Amino acid sequence: MSDSELEKAHRRLIEEIEMNARETENFTGRGRFSNAVMAAMAKVPRHEFLGDNHQGVAYSNRPQSIGFGQTISQPYIVAVMTDLLDLKPTDKVLEIGTGSGYQAAVLAEVTGHVYSMESVRSLAASAAKRLKRLGYDAIKLRHGDGYTGWEEEAPFDAILVTAAPETIPRALCDQLKVGGRMILPVGRQFSPQILKRGIKLNDGRVSFRSTLPVAFVPMVKGPKEEH
Ligand code: SAH
Repeated sequence: MSDSELEKAHRRLIEEIEMNARETENFTGRGRFSNAVMAAMAKVPRHEFLGDNHQGVAYSNRPQSIGFGQTISQPYIVAVMTDLLDLKPTDKVLEIGTGSGYQAAVLAEVTGHVYSMESVRSLAASAAKRLKRLGYDAIKLRHGDGYTGWEEEAPFDAILVTAAPETIPRALCDQLKVGGRMILPVGRQFSPQILKRGIKLNDGRVSFRSTLPVAFVPMVKGPKEEH
């Protein structure tokens, strides 16, 4: 695809996301996403996060394979998850599941304080290289198990999980600030999963509500060397 074809496909994708936002308002409570989130979606070059033979579908509104049985999420899902975090430019945000680094780059367009963890070593390494090459060197990356969170950098204003645990990980709730937001898919693979949004209350509990039905890869226990 030529640069101008990619640009055209990217613009069309932004319109589709706006349409999806309107269609899913009953689930999410948001008929449109913030200007900051939409500007980030329009800016991050998704084709740079996919292999050479996937360039033609980089701007279609679907998840894509990134190897190791893992996927880069559907663009609309990246947008809705980012929007539901209600990020301010000064917020510190933790992502679990770096994958290709695409979601981390979108977050980095909204706030300068992005931390992201990945349990598959080679994905963590290639995302680090790619993000650096694209100029996203302010993103802090770590190879490790997201079930334990990132204790040294806690607490966070926002936490986003891009793989589905069967139950909500306790450590992540502990590492959220009071008033902080969390967004994550919950459920078994191939059975209905629900995207949940939580907010941490003054008493330390995190209150969750369900938004959309989704399909994510499972959140696995323990850091992986390869798999
Ligand atoms: N956010 C990614 C897509 C993530 S797919 C992107 O924008 O491309 C889910 C990712 O979560 C996979 O890369 C998978 O390896 C990772 N993952 C699964 N279990 C994990 C865990 N326990 N800790 C950290 N990462 C995990």
